[in-house]
Amino acid sequence: MDEELKVGEFISDVREQILFLQEVGVEALAVEWASAVDSGKLIVDSGRSVEPIAQPRGGFERIEKAAPPERLELPRKEDGAAPRSAGSRLAALPSLKDRKAAPVRKGSMRQVQENQAAISMKADEPAVEAAAKLEETIDTIESIRAEIGNCLRCPLHERRTQVVHTTGNFQAELMFVGEAPGADEDEQGFPFVGRAGQLLTKIIEGMGYKREEVAIGNINRCLPPGNRPPTLPEAHTCRPFLLREIAVIKPKVIVVMGNTALHNLLDTKAGITKVRGEFQDYFGVKVMPTFHPAFLLRDPRKKREVWEDMKKVRDYLAGQ
Ligand code: URA
Repeated sequence: MDEELKVGEFISDVREQILFLQEVGVEALAVEWASAVDSGKLIVDSGRSVEPIAQPRGGFERIEKAAPPERLELPRKEDGAAPRSAGSRLAALPSLKDRKAAPVRKGSMRQVQENQAAISMKADEPAVEAAAKLEETIDTIESIRAEIGNCLRCPLHERRTQVVHTTGNFQAELMFVGEAPGADEDEQGFPFVGRAGQLLTKIIEGMGYKREEVAIGNINRCLPPGNRPPTLPEAHTCRPFLLREIAVIKPKVIVVMGNTALHNLLDTKAGITKVRGEFQDYFGVKVMPTFHPAFLLRDPRKKREVWEDMKKVRDYLAGQ
């Protein structure tokens, strides 16, 4: 393999491992490069321990008890990769060494261009047009899914395993909207089934709902490479389907989680930190912006704010 490619892959592997470690709560990493060179292993100091955080009464107390941070389900490794130093947290991580390149699915260029031409008229219709359908839609969830089909409308189709559709109760009074599928969602075909999704489930249960009682969707339905946020054209290509689903579901409250969901549902550039906790309006539907659960995994102290936001939603719905 070309040397530059190998180095690029190695850097990307290390970056993924570090992101993973950050997600599981390791705040500082000291990598001993000299030892790494000598022994061929990376020796990692797992850094400071994380102070326990006082949780609000109610939902999140239950969340913490139900899902201690140690309860991580790591992907199992079946092959015989080189052993890693025992005691290092890296020892518990799956090796990315033998990772297969994600298959690239390409429609013919002509097909992609035709699709893009078609959607430029239709898919990126402004939110106001989609919202007009709130009153008068003739769509059904099935017809929207059929129209999405084996979607080739944006470049995200190239590396996805499958399209990840909105799921749950399509007559729900409460809907949650996130950004785009991650690797777990891409593999399983359902939104919010990875670690962030497990936290979302606990948030929903903390509010007094079962997960299957609410609707859960994303702005984008295909996994962006490297888990990056979708670009604006990608988001604008995909969101009309979500807006049409909202018109079918007619929830009373939509919780938008994180900036991508906030910006693309409300066509705003306001930051989530600024507007979270304040009800917004989407053509008569209450919208509560709050932090994304993946962000809560990185900064659990923010759970308190999310819980405050969810109490507002719960109280509003209880008064309906
Ligand atoms: N993050 C999202 O925004 N959506 C998912 O479905 C999973 C993780």
